[in-house]
Amino acid sequence: MNPNQVLGEDNPFEAMHARFDLAANKLGLDAGLYKILRTPDRELTVAIPVLMEDGSTEVFTGYRVQHSLARGPAKGGIRFDPNVTLDEVRALAAWMTWKAAVVNVPFGGGKGGVVCDPSKLSRLELERITRRYTASILDILGPDRDVPAPDMGTDGQVMAWIMDTYSMHARHAATAVVTGKPVGLGGSLGRVEATGRGLMICAREALARLGRKATECTAAVQGAGNVGQVTASYLGKMGVKVVGISDITGAIVDERGLDIQDICSHLARVRTLDGYGKCDRVSNAQLLELPVDILVPAATENVITSRNAPNLKAKLIVEGANGPVTAAADRILDEKGIFVVPDILANAGGVTVSYFEWVQDRMGFFWGQDEVNDKLETIMVRAFHDVVDMAQRFEVSNRIAAYMLGIDRVATITRMRGIYA
Ligand code: NAD
Repeated sequence: MNPNQVLGEDNPFEAMHARFDLAANKLGLDAGLYKILRTPDRELTVAIPVLMEDGSTEVFTGYRVQHSLARGPAKGGIRFDPNVTLDEVRALAAWMTWKAAVVNVPFGGGKGGVVCDPSKLSRLELERITRRYTASILDILGPDRDVPAPDMGTDGQVMAWIMDTYSMHARHAATAVVTGKPVGLGGSLGRVEATGRGLMICAREALARLGRKATECTAAVQGAGNVGQVTASYLGKMGVKVVGISDITGAIVDERGLDIQDICSHLARVRTLDGYGKCDRVSNAQLLELPVDILVPAATENVITSRNAPNLKAKLIVEGANGPVTAAADRILDEKGIFVVPDILANAGGVTVSYFEWVQDRMGFFWGQDEVNDKLETIMVRAFHDVVDMAQRFEVSNRIAAYMLGIDRVATITRMRGIYA
């Protein structure tokens, strides 16, 4: 169990259901749709036997959950992590459904996971796990069925192996089967930065709503992976002073402001913040409670709980990770008057540019970086104000408003399609 988690608040699927129930109730969702949308469409668990470099054989467990296919192919990342559970993947798949609907791109929601620790695997072992996992879930994958993407512990190279494995079986190059691929392989310009860019756009719009100037704000970012690094860089470019960033090894802080570029160079060399000797170190728990204006949890689930929520100082939380706040902590953040940009809105830049990548692959015609960024800007700004306006209209939190928006869009399509019997 993640050391930051609190007993009773550690099941992300229950956390998703708690919010789903509140939003469904507020929408007055009928009982039939409630049952349909609460339940994942399809779940696959596979055993992944792998010949290891030392000659031994290991069997890893992999999951792929398709929560909803109502609006289009399932879309969602694949996570390689030793703590992955089926309930976590179920929650992440459902969040993808609501997220794709919040930004109104024609995808359903899916997610995958393999229980493994990539930091302890050789490149060859990682490739073997990826290819065998892909082969085992092949029947439910495809550009019109289910389109994976990177998540924690996976990257463009893993996507390239998935694309190749799928293509070898399909007997043609099927670039649109995954997104987050290297640009030379049909990836989209701007995809690597997309999630962090979307977070920056949400932070900017939220500060405007709060009447705050970026140049007068400080921020702390939990997680120094793809999302954390890009978000910290963009916040810095906006004029926000980033005073803390962390990874699994702990946090580094400097109240004068961190040199994010230097930290990213260090991470590119040694992969963790451990050994970055130029700043003070604090724990991940302390990082979350720093006296900053903006907090960006961009690592993993359930890090803000009923235990530490009362101690948070930030006025604005922009959720890079999926499910970083437990349902019990929601109420405390509301009472404290913290403006929360919820995960299914804040980190939707990733799925939005994944959608652009899928569209470009299918057209075989590729856009420039400015075109990608401009289209992302339009979608994120519209989604942000749709959610915040809805929150005001229905007098609910931004999180419940985002769920309401997403659920309503999926419910509308499900109603139109009817139930095949
Ligand atoms: P990543 O693997 O690139 O980085 C994860 C970072 O979090 C690393 O720095 C790792 O050390 C740190 N970390 C892991 N567990 C931690 C813990 N318990 N405490 C503190 N730090 C911890 O992953 P990523 O792609 O940056 O994804 C981060 C989060 O953002 C995940 O929740 C993911 O689902 C979500 N997300 C990612 C994308 C994307 O496009 N990559 C899109 C939407 C949401």
